[in-house]
Amino acid sequence: MWYNQLHEELEELKRRNLYRSMVTVDGPQGPEVVINGRKVILMCSNNYLGLANHPRILEAARRAMELYGYGAVASRLVSGNMRVHEEFEKIAAIFKKVEAALLFGSGYMANVGVISALCNSAEDLVVSDKLNHASIIDGLMLSKASFATFRHNDVEHLERILKKKRARRKLVVVDGVFSMDGDIAPLRDIVEVARKYDAMVMVDDAHATGVIGDTGRGSCEYWDLWGEVDIQMCTLGKALGGYGAFVCANDVVIDYLVNKCRPFIYTTALPVPVVAAATESINMLMEDPEPVRRLRANVERFVDGLKNIGLDVKDNSTAIVPVIVGDEGKCLALSKRLFELGVYVAAIRPPTVPKGTARLRVTLMATHASEHIERAIEAFAKAASEIL
Ligand SMILES: *Cc1c(COP(=O)(O)O)cnc(C)c1O
Repeated sequence: MWYNQLHEELEELKRRNLYRSMVTVDGPQGPEVVINGRKVILMCSNNYLGLANHPRILEAARRAMELYGYGAVASRLVSGNMRVHEEFEKIAAIFKKVEAALLFGSGYMANVGVISALCNSAEDLVVSDKLNHASIIDGLMLSKASFATFRHNDVEHLERILKKKRARRKLVVVDGVFSMDGDIAPLRDIVEVARKYDAMVMVDDAHATGVIGDTGRGSCEYWDLWGEVDIQMCTLGKALGGYGAFVCANDVVIDYLVNKCRPFIYTTALPVPVVAAATESINMLMEDPEPVRRLRANVERFVDGLKNIGLDVKDNSTAIVPVIVGDEGKCLALSKRLFELGVYVAAIRPPTVPKGTARLRVTLMATHASEHIERAIEAFAKAASEIL
């Protein structure tokens, strides 16, 4: 019976410590949140710059709703293309120094849509880093192209693949900042190799936008590759504090997506307050990138603290600090103990990360006070000494 099958599969996940469930967060997102009635320091949110609950963002959303209402209630190509959407795309293109930007419902939809639109024939080839985000993998699976995977950040391996395989169109796609490891793709070398073989380059800047580069503009700023990356995908759901995504490219690529990209065409445009809030978040970052520097200082302080207590963590210029545990059960136990000690970090397990690399993926925010960071380090010291 189907019901028993589903139930048994869930039981099997539980036996293997791979079962997932949601916790309920009360109140707004901040450096501290209330979970199960307890106030804890939040150390696994992507609210890197603290914008999710910023008064200016809330005000922008309210003001836009008063002027334009709530929903867009049609796709962009029918009657859902409102003034707020176009204004956002103008600002986003200036922020990223590109010809054009295009809004999407989410980063997941953008990745799935862009990859499957640009590579839509068996004669096309998509080449993807082994550790790319699940939404990129799903894009590969949905596209009709053939695909190949290169070893994580291994540009020589990438080059061997590009050299060997013939294709009508080639697309190289990488996370600018890898979501579960927090390391940075060697984009300068990737662009150079891709150009040699006439391949397009797409970078997923989900964890790079608002985080890397002097003013938080992401991979192109970090690597000084302005104008050299064909496609950038940036979510609004992480450092920018809201929901949705945008793709940056030249006019031809954007025009092609408007005409061919199914998750752009066949879905309702984002609601007004979401888009107005996103515009405000980018304006704020362009006016004052100070939170980017504060975030970086917090990451440094936290990494130093973990090293001092003997944990093996890497220096990182991103907001993500993975503490690799390995065993899934131990990882869950460590997360649980940290929660008792007042710090919430979710355990990340396969298939989100490779087998044997279960981890606590700690993320810092610009709005963590030094006292939050000190308390978190103390909690890590205690929990790690008991469990690891
Ligand atoms: C979160 C994430 C996405 C998906 O973005 P959403 O806007 O949350 O759908 C895509 N790529 C990477 C690398 C991510 O971390």
